[in-house]
Amino acid sequence: MAKIPINIATGSIQQDEIIVGIDLGTTNSLVAAIHPDTKKPIALKEIDQQSMVPSIIHFGETISVGNDAKEYLETDATNTIYSIKRLLGRSFDDIKARKDFFSYKIIDNEESELVKIQVEEKFYSPIELSSLILKELKNRAEHILKTDVSKCVITVPAYFNDSQRQATRDAGKLAGLEVLRIINEPTAASLAYGMGTTTQEEQNIAVYDLGGGTFDISILKLSDGVFDVLSTNGDTYLGGDDFDKVIFDHFISLLKLDATFYNNKEAVQSLRLLSEEAKKTLSTKDKFESTFQDSNVHITKEEFDTLITPLIERTIAACTKALADSTLTKKEIDKVVMVGGSTRTPAVQKMVSDYFEQEVSCEVNPDEIVSLGAAIQADILAGNTSDILLLDVTPLSLGLETMGGLMDVIIPRNSKVPSQASREYTTQKDGQSGIEINVYQGERDLVGDNRKLGAFTLKNIPSMPAGLPKVQIKFQLNADGILTVSATEVRSNTKQEIEIKPQYGLDDDKVEQMLMDSMQHAKEDIAHRAFIEAKTEAEHLIDQSEKFLEKHAELITKDEKEASRSQMQQVQKAIESKDKDKIQLEQEKLNDISRPYAERVMDKAVSAALSGKDIK
Ligand code: AMP
Repeated sequence: MAKIPINIATGSIQQDEIIVGIDLGTTNSLVAAIHPDTKKPIALKEIDQQSMVPSIIHFGETISVGNDAKEYLETDATNTIYSIKRLLGRSFDDIKARKDFFSYKIIDNEESELVKIQVEEKFYSPIELSSLILKELKNRAEHILKTDVSKCVITVPAYFNDSQRQATRDAGKLAGLEVLRIINEPTAASLAYGMGTTTQEEQNIAVYDLGGGTFDISILKLSDGVFDVLSTNGDTYLGGDDFDKVIFDHFISLLKLDATFYNNKEAVQSLRLLSEEAKKTLSTKDKFESTFQDSNVHITKEEFDTLITPLIERTIAACTKALADSTLTKKEIDKVVMVGGSTRTPAVQKMVSDYFEQEVSCEVNPDEIVSLGAAIQADILAGNTSDILLLDVTPLSLGLETMGGLMDVIIPRNSKVPSQASREYTTQKDGQSGIEINVYQGERDLVGDNRKLGAFTLKNIPSMPAGLPKVQIKFQLNADGILTVSATEVRSNTKQEIEIKPQYGLDDDKVEQMLMDSMQHAKEDIAHRAFIEAKTEAEHLIDQSEKFLEKHAELITKDEKEASRSQMQQVQKAIESKDKDKIQLEQEKLNDISRPYAERVMDKAVSAALSGKDIK
């Protein structure tokens, strides 16, 4: 059986089209694709170094991106934008504690709005800026692959929230790319090691990602071909740049440079670059030696290791927290995957390996690994790899119709897959023998605005008074995106179920359209839901009141009966007027009328019950 993800329209992707994988990084961005001959993923920078794009944009007479922009980091700092990923989908409130990190101007007037960046007279959103980087990657990929590139998979950190993911998706769209899927960076890294490509294996994976400026640890559980993020932790301001800094400070003291040195920006920058070179050298050699301003500078691997130990210890502390949150023990971790250029430092590998008490996996190039995994995912989506599916979240909510045509969500959108949830319902009428179950997908409050997936009737419920049957409705969404809905009347164990195979799933545009609709109509939906709830409750009250009047006719006076019935008509009129507040008001009046006799009837019933008992 071919497995089809729920949000990709079957057959809408052409087999021969190259879909690229993009690692949109904080410092560097990379694009990878499956090599047409070898069928293996390859980072395009292996073909042309230029395809690795530093995530930097410079606004001068023209806009430059990547290496060309990098040159301006020191010389034209206010017009050079870096680390834009830290601002994607964020408000000023989110980042204000770290605003000094950015040398360019971040607009801070609307704290809850998404941030904007000011360059000269113009304002840019992080989405627009990220799109410039993506556009550059697209151009370079087209140049290398000699074909149009219009579809891609983009990776994001596992901890990215909805707004950050949506911002990434929008940036892709703005760059002229159709973003088929946003996947988690640690998931991509695991894929690059071939994990998740068979459905049987079950593994727990720790992905340790130490880049230039950020550190992430993610604990994943892989089962049935689905990656589940159990926990994440990290430090968004810790990375290889800090390693450079300790070497830089070491050289400063070695050279006995004083504070005036910092006034010479160019000298500072070249000492910084020399420090990074020293760090990289120490990944393979025991000593680094060079000259700076005619003086000798040197550092040994041992010295370097001592200097960075406290920094690595901070990453280990984060690993401990992530592990605790995942409720797994070190022994239960089957593989530790190393990601990010800074994991080339031997001391990092050693300390991580010592901590997890096992060898760590660092065979796949740690700079390229995320983009390679994204390319594998792209290939899967292109339908080139049969039988593999990576569906990590449901794109739209799944639920059923309740009274008045309201949508009752059982599995909310963005739930992890596989997923299951159940809820209990009951009957509305005495002796009701069947319940109709209508299953819908979508975000709107009224089922009429959502998409119907299927329906069935739970029959043969034994005759019981209204409200007594316990009908448990269970939604099970498996890794293949197949939904099974079952209904069981618990008291009598009557059961019925259907399987819904969403082969004709929605394409991304349709999903987006449905989400947009739900946002646009949110206000009217809330009002309508309130009306329907009031109406349902009022109808129920009329029904109950009539039953009560009939059942206890001899205990209620004629006047009371007349007052009640006339007020019941007022409630009915209010329902017809569709005014929620009026319904509630008339309902309240009906309650006020019936309260005295209802209490009387109850008192009678209680004393009758007591008098029947033989109390000794
Ligand atoms: P990434 O953000 O994953 O591209 O990682 C970039 C970081 O990796 C920078 O701090 C680089 O200096 C660092 N890096 C690159 N190559 C090496 C190396 N051979 N040894 C140690 N660190 C490196």
